[in-house]
Amino acid sequence: MINVTEITEKLSPNQKINYDRVLQKVIADWQKAEVRPTILLHSCCAPCSTYTLEYLTKYADVTIYFANSNIHPRAEYQRRELVQKKFVEDFNEQTNNHVKFLAASYEPNTFIKMVQENGLTEEPEGGKRCSACFQMRLDLVAEKAQELGYDYFGSALTLSPKKNSQLINEIGIDIQKFYATNYLPSDFKKNNGYKRSIELCKEYDVYRQCYCGCLFAATKQGIDLKTVNKEAKEYLKEQQE
Ligand code: SF4
Ligand code: SF4
Repeated sequence: MINVTEITEKLSPNQKINYDRVLQKVIADWQKAEVRPTILLHSCCAPCSTYTLEYLTKYADVTIYFANSNIHPRAEYQRRELVQKKFVEDFNEQTNNHVKFLAASYEPNTFIKMVQENGLTEEPEGGKRCSACFQMRLDLVAEKAQELGYDYFGSALTLSPKKNSQLINEIGIDIQKFYATNYLPSDFKKNNGYKRSIELCKEYDVYRQCYCGCLFAATKQGIDLKTVNKEAKEYLKEQQE
């Protein structure tokens, strides 16, 4: 399987990399070789996975990996996990695809300890705490992809205009050095990907959360976490009935 570095090494070092074009080259290589690779794709809630799945399932067999111990509180984590799982099921039913869903265990103390030990609690959203958060989660995805023998690991987060896709791609490329799997480059917001994700969220009636996930950013943003917790618990109760 082609590795992203075979493409990026040919680019000028001073050039800003268009990771969407790099992904297109990777896909062209699969098509030339007539292969349909397997991808373990990280997602932290359903919205970013919508268009991403619509796009990638044309060329590859995808499994969504929900590995997000950064999300607070627990009930909201469970809600996002259930919404993600349900979207995958609905997507498969509507499109006749066979996307799989996997979830890691919820270990919020690991994330909180990592943030505190590195002095990142006061970082603004988009700062060093987020880099460490992407790193922690992408590392888990790469580890799982290696364990289960996936050809590629990647992230749906590059769909979000609020997330730095250059940074996510650089972290992914760095992490792949330690694992026997390939990083899947992407910038899913390109080609109207983000706009299409909004349409798909409406079409599939997908819950869109109002904060990224962690306690630190939610507090700075003034999110009413008591209400978030209450609404998440109500949702979970409805699903059990
Ligand atoms: S980046 Fe935001 S919208 Fe996208 S999956 Fe993560 S929490 Fe959801
Ligand atoms: S704001 Fe989002 S990406 Fe940044 S540390 Fe918090 S949960 Fe992670």
